[in-house]
Amino acid sequence: MKRYLIVWTALLFFAGSAFGLTLKKYGTFHFEKQLENVYVMHGPVVAPDEANEGFMNNPAIIEGEKGLIVIDPGGSYNVGKKVLQEIEKISKKPILAAINTHKHGDHWFANKALLEKYPNLKIYAHENMIREVKGGEAQKWFNILDRLTHNLKGTDQEFAYPNQALKDGDKIEIDGEKFVVFHPVMAHTDTDLMILHENSQTLFLGDNVMKGRMGAFDASSSIFGNIRTLEKLLNQKPYRLYVPGHGLSGSRDGTITPYLHYLQSVAKWAQKAYDDDLEAYEVKPMAVKELDAYKAWDGFSYALGRHLMKAYEEIEMKDAEEE
Ligand SMILES: [Zn+2]
Repeated sequence: MKRYLIVWTALLFFAGSAFGLTLKKYGTFHFEKQLENVYVMHGPVVAPDEANEGFMNNPAIIEGEKGLIVIDPGGSYNVGKKVLQEIEKISKKPILAAINTHKHGDHWFANKALLEKYPNLKIYAHENMIREVKGGEAQKWFNILDRLTHNLKGTDQEFAYPNQALKDGDKIEIDGEKFVVFHPVMAHTDTDLMILHENSQTLFLGDNVMKGRMGAFDASSSIFGNIRTLEKLLNQKPYRLYVPGHGLSGSRDGTITPYLHYLQSVAKWAQKAYDDDLEAYEVKPMAVKELDAYKAWDGFSYALGRHLMKAYEEIEMKDAEEE
């Protein structure tokens, strides 16, 4: 009996490490090489729920000569432990630093697992993010993700806050890997960093771009700011690789354009509602028709309704300011 148990335990252990981060409903996830020393594990492109256990972002690794830099390790302590196992399959080098793209917990709560293994880890983020997560955003996101995923155990009681503040245009070099960060002021949130890894010419977009699902916009976000940010990127010389916060990485146009077109359409219909003295929901059927190509994106109809309202509010506010 005892022997069977040992065999089973060994088999389970082996299966676990061979198959990696496995979610019953969504399958198995691994880091995949994108460019010479850049790896991304593309999470399931859905909103947080029990089935994805709070893993639905795109953790990334940059492999330096002596160690690794991790971007957005994931959405909880438990997720972080699994991501760490996956990282170790790519390289046994130590983790030298982490960078977080913005305040939403699905991107940074897994810092906790990294910090447990590397207590002196430098974790970089925009100065607004550090201020806001310490000022209540961490707890707010903990409550949201805990309710939706029931997998937040071990994440709080001292959140693993970023401990190195960055601002727009800052340059950092870690183990010969060079990064420049851009802060779009107000786009997906007011805490965003877009991170350019200069060596590979990869731009990590954070949630300013998603592919296959839509972002959430609140009082700290701006749909119009997000549009301007993406338009600017399209007017620059393209980098080699663009990594969105959710959804597949790829070329500049293939990654950015679908989300930008969606946001532009939302802005257009909200403006139409405003000009014609209609409520935002009254233009939704027309917007749905125009955005037919997006109907398979996760949570499309609900998100569109919310986004039309948000864009409408922004137009209203701008108009009030101008009067
Ligand atoms: Zn986000």
